[in-house]
Amino acid sequence: SLTVGGFICLGLAYYGSRFMADRAMAPIKSSWQRQQEFVADASHELRTPLSVVQLNLDIVKGNPEETVASQSKWIDYSLLEIRRMSKLVDDLLFLARADSQQQTLNPQMFSLKTALSEVIESFTPLAQTNGISLEASFREEGMYYGDENRIKQLIVILLDNALKYTRPGGMVTLRFQDWSTHAEITVSDTGEGIEQEHLNQIFERFYRVDRARSQQKEGTGLGLAIADWIIKSHRGRIKVTSSPGKGTTFVINLPHGNLDKL
Ligand code: ADP
Repeated sequence: SLTVGGFICLGLAYYGSRFMADRAMAPIKSSWQRQQEFVADASHELRTPLSVVQLNLDIVKGNPEETVASQSKWIDYSLLEIRRMSKLVDDLLFLARADSQQQTLNPQMFSLKTALSEVIESFTPLAQTNGISLEASFREEGMYYGDENRIKQLIVILLDNALKYTRPGGMVTLRFQDWSTHAEITVSDTGEGIEQEHLNQIFERFYRVDRARSQQKEGTGLGLAIADWIIKSHRGRIKVTSSPGKGTTFVINLPHGNLDKL
């Protein structure tokens, strides 16, 4: 019918336009330029799902004689897009606060062992559902001075990605090692990996390696940009190594003794 055709057309336009928004690598950009692009990308990412919701609800409204149950497909599409938009708005708010220096840290002494164990526990059901073995072994207590909630959020982002880009039967590992100068946290997976040429761009806002493929996986393309901010705000560093088809490893270095500066 016309409405279904319309929906499909809009869907194609939606994903097609996202594809085109995948800009070619740009060299050095001014921060003003980057800010403008950020606003444009953000508006675009919000505009399209809004259109999908609007169209789907119009379809439902156009069939008042139908039951809710018989129209659940259109309602479910709308709910899915709304859920995505909520996550996107949360992530955008985080970065907007970070940009305007309003994103503050709440540093305190905490145990990395406890914090990371809690994060691992929260991911166990998802790993099981996806048929991925999630390994973690922490020997040290790893007392660290920093923002515990932010560090947990950072590990959530990395584990979420590791599970998302790894097939059933694969493995995701979380480790940490405490050195005198820094704590080192490693997240590795046996997933699809990332081609060399994309490695230094994945931390950019809205950058997703393969839009067509990433599109099937839920995500905003802002996770690693947020992770990067959390690490920098702790004066830390992150390194990524990857082997396409074999897996990816992120190593985070969080220095000790920068307390007074936080
Ligand atoms: P997204 O919401 O798309 O996951 P991120 O900022 O977290 O956004 O990641 C950016 C891109 O980096 C992803 O779209 C994906 O292409 C790539 N990526 C991140 N983590 C991994 C991983 N563990 N394995 C493979 N690709 C990854």
